Amino acid sequence: MRYEAPSSLEQAVGLLAAATGDARVLAGGTDLLVQMRTDILNPDLVVDIKHIPELREVKEEAGGFRIGAAVTGAELKEHPRLQSVWPGVVEAANLIGSTQIQGRATMGGNLCNGSPAADSVPALIAAGAKASVVGPNGRREIAVEEVMLAPRKLSLTKGEIIASFLLPARGRGSADAYLRFIPRTEMDIAVVGCGIALTVDGNGVVSRARVSLGAVAARPLLVEAAANALIGSKLEDAALKKLDAAAGAACKPIDDKRGTKEYRIKVAGVLARRTAAIAYERARKG
Ligand SMILES: Cc1cc2nc3c(=O)[nH]c(=O)nc-3n(C[C@H](O)[C@H](O)[C@H](O)COP(=O)(O)OP(=O)(O)OC[C@H]3O[C@@H](n4cnc5c(N)ncnc54)[C@H](O)[C@@H]3O)c2cc1C
Repeated sequence: MRYEAPSSLEQAVGLLAAATGDARVLAGGTDLLVQMRTDILNPDLVVDIKHIPELREVKEEAGGFRIGAAVTGAELKEHPRLQSVWPGVVEAANLIGSTQIQGRATMGGNLCNGSPAADSVPALIAAGAKASVVGPNGRREIAVEEVMLAPRKLSLTKGEIIASFLLPARGRGSADAYLRFIPRTEMDIAVVGCGIALTVDGNGVVSRARVSLGAVAARPLLVEAAANALIGSKLEDAALKKLDAAAGAACKPIDDKRGTKEYRIKVAGVLARRTAAIAYERARKG
């Protein structure tokens, strides 16, 4: 196996584009190295992206934040402003694994590993984040919900890397939240994950919302019907019931040892209600 640690995005893309065998990006390695050690993957080329300055920084841009794809969850938490503006995104990234894992794991790796249960992905989708994809044909910005197509299957083409995520400017009266349900108290894979970002007007009425669910379908979902259930409401019981029903209706889950289909559908509704309540309270507090 060949290991390369380029210092520029162009070099990284060049190496991946020219590779003939299986070529993989290495960010934190908390998925990739486990898969290599257990012989699930045996790449011919590994391109470590942690030495590329552009991928290692968080900067304010267009009123929002550009987060390099090799920034770790622990670094997101330490940023002086990010957590107060996008608490849901930061809390999702910091639910990943343990303290040790959070010191390595990135949101780019979480997304590109292609797991429907990846914790940071529903939070990014709810936030309306864009992924900046760089490849042999240049750079393109795509919505995060368009990156993953199915388990382990991405819309990225040969030589393409996610360079960063752009979190948009957060409007006045807006906030986000992420919750997941796991059978244990920590270090487990989500049975359901839910990210919600919403905006409330001066009267406490929800004027905009985005709802995303993870671990309930072949890829993380953006659930428009669930967002519509919240819009125009003050999260009254009737709106929460609609949200619950819309979240459950969007699920196409699998049965596995963590839960049956019916259980996941039920949990999705409950989790959506609880996540909405947290985002709403945060938005009202400004
Ligand atoms: C003990 C343990 C606990 C865990 N707990 C959780 C958990 O609670 N929740 C959760 O969601 N996950 C969990 N994980 C999985 C893993 O930690 C996360 O998915 C993590 O975010 C992966 O990020 P990484 O930087 O380590 O990715 P890597 O392992 O470096 O990469 C993962 C995949 O993405 C590709 N890749 C990485 N970066 C890019 C990029 N910028 N562009 C294109 N492709 C890229 C790699 O080639 C590889 O295929 C856990 C893992 C372990 C070992």
